[in-house]
Amino acid sequence: MSDLFDLHKKRILITGSGQGIGYVMAQGLAQYGAEIIINDISAERAEQAVMKLRDEGAVVHSAVFNVTDPNAVTQAIDNIENDIGPIDVLFNNAGIQRRHPFTEFPVQEWNDVISVNQTSVFLVSQAVARHMVARGKGKIVNICSMQSELGRDTITPYAAAKGAVKMLTRGMCVELARHNIQVNGIAPGYFKTAMTQALVDDKEFTDWLCKRTPAARWGNPEELIGAAVFLSSQASNFVNGHLLFVDGGMLVAV
Ligand code: NAP
Repeated sequence: MSDLFDLHKKRILITGSGQGIGYVMAQGLAQYGAEIIINDISAERAEQAVMKLRDEGAVVHSAVFNVTDPNAVTQAIDNIENDIGPIDVLFNNAGIQRRHPFTEFPVQEWNDVISVNQTSVFLVSQAVARHMVARGKGKIVNICSMQSELGRDTITPYAAAKGAVKMLTRGMCVELARHNIQVNGIAPGYFKTAMTQALVDDKEFTDWLCKRTPAARWGNPEELIGAAVFLSSQASNFVNGHLLFVDGGMLVAV
């Protein structure tokens, strides 16, 4: 049982992992032995991430593509499968945030939020799952959010998308579990990254967050590594359709 969490021989693709939560999960998964494929929309950012991980001794590749472009996704996944090797685990992590009051929210930004946070999960999962079904094994981990369950001022499209990712997780679980593919989600609370930098810098928000969260602080991205390793490893082989909240207790408190 000592190798229950061992990730040697696992090849893991993480979308939007040039920085932030995706990058830190890549770093942690590599430390458990996984071979990593970094995806980002920015070639420069992906390349920098690859160089840093290689310096730390990781086996890592870069796959630059836009997760919202159906043709680019299919092409990229086929290229990875043919040129690098089978994808054992997919993390759907790429995401964006846009903030406006509901009555002012521009429709273009609604479309951007829905396509990056929600449609990409459908597109990338479908392209990868076709290969996983043929092999009869695989794991997919969708990065959800507190907003998969809770609304909040000025980010209604993000909450709509993350709520949909929760249900994509459950729907994909129902269809794919019989092929020995485990589909689960990680729902982070509030973590310090580029996406949340404006909130981190806002003392009023940080004071509110510390009162609202039982653990009374921001999360550090490193604190997501345990959940990522668990859901990538054989330790989770009978865990299906689960959302693992890593949120300092925020979801269970009023
Ligand atoms: P981040 O630091 O902004 O990283 C997200 C990465 O995804 C960025 O490098 C971004 O590139 C990339 N990306 C955006 N659109 C893309 C596209 N179309 N194709 C490929 N890559 C794309 O964000 P993060 O905070 O690490 O968030 C990662 C995930 O965790 C997201 O799904 C987010 O919703 C979720 N999450 C975050 C928190 C938190 O507190 N930070 C909490 C709950 C959930 P650009 O910067 O160039 O757009």
